[in-house]
Amino acid sequence: MNFSSKLLENAVLEFSKLPGIGQKTALRLVLHLLNQDKSDVERFSVAMTKLRNEIQHCRVCFNISDHTVCEICASHKRDRGTICVVEDTRDVMAIENTNQYNGVYHVLGGLISPMDGVGPSDLEVDTLVERIKANEVREVIFALSATMEGDTTIFYLHKRLKDFKINISTIARGIAFGGELEYVDEITLGRSIATRVPYESSLAK
Ligand SMILES: [Zn+2]
Repeated sequence: MNFSSKLLENAVLEFSKLPGIGQKTALRLVLHLLNQDKSDVERFSVAMTKLRNEIQHCRVCFNISDHTVCEICASHKRDRGTICVVEDTRDVMAIENTNQYNGVYHVLGGLISPMDGVGPSDLEVDTLVERIKANEVREVIFALSATMEGDTTIFYLHKRLKDFKINISTIARGIAFGGELEYVDEITLGRSIATRVPYESSLAK
């Protein structure tokens, strides 16, 4: 693409680094911004910078948070004896949207994937084990994608957790194999949490 302006080219280049954004879409977005009031564009860039500089990870569950402890962990209405283990913040949002879950979360920050060089030490696994040791936890629910990586992660976590006196369950896999949590509709996801099954009996199938 030949640009008539270096400034335009730089802006398009930055947008096209975003996932799913090709050069044409990037150009359309940049031209759209150029048509906005300067104050709107200012607000946009301040929001991005503030997000990047000020966002934290909850020190209890590692979800993305505005504070050192997120609103879910800080709430007295939540059942802290039930921990739902998820891959990332999108899964927390999806499960919260179901209004079917009143426990707390633990965000792993990814899934074990030997192919991509992601091992347990790259994820919030030790912190989960420590959390279970230090708190009265009755149940851990695995709500991970029904993919090879999701299953590998659950298998590994189960090995680490099986000696604790807790119930270990997994969400019912109404979700097709290869299904990612964030694409599941709220009703199906809510139902699969409500009808969760003990992990060991899920293996027998
Ligand atoms: Zn939290």
